[in-house]
Amino acid sequence: MGLQAYHAKRKFGATPEPRGRQARRKGNAFVIQKHDASRLHYDLRLELDGVMKSWAVTRGPSLVPGEKRLAVRVEDHPIEYNTFEGIIPQGQYGGGTVMIWDRGTWAPEGDAERGLEKGHLDFTLAGEKLGGAWHLVRMGARPGEKRENWVLIKAHDEPARG
Ligand code: MN
Repeated sequence: MGLQAYHAKRKFGATPEPRGRQARRKGNAFVIQKHDASRLHYDLRLELDGVMKSWAVTRGPSLVPGEKRLAVRVEDHPIEYNTFEGIIPQGQYGGGTVMIWDRGTWAPEGDAERGLEKGHLDFTLAGEKLGGAWHLVRMGARPGEKRENWVLIKAHDEPARG
């Protein structure tokens, strides 16, 4: 995807969000930002190939294994976004308050790019609030619907040992 969509949607004179650019580093950061926009949601971002792959999780992650939460795929964000907190002015894209809700590192099970393509990504999170295994699964698109609806699901973790 790259950052073309991210840049096209924003006026950087009017929003405090970082312009950012695709990074060369191969990191594994994740962040979840609570975004009190026209509708409150939680933006899940997973670093892959120099950008943050992003989903807007409408009701936030559920810690209950198997419980599905709608996660609408949104445009890739720059890695610089991971430290962003602030107020996007009303009238600008995503107008409202952005706060970091969780952050840490993530690890895909298997090949992450392939998982994104086929619409099923299994991964673990090591954050301050969230941990363990998770699934992101793409749902079939309805006819005429452009947006990609995924669901975020907490996996049934193996019982802790020791
Ligand atoms: Mn958002």
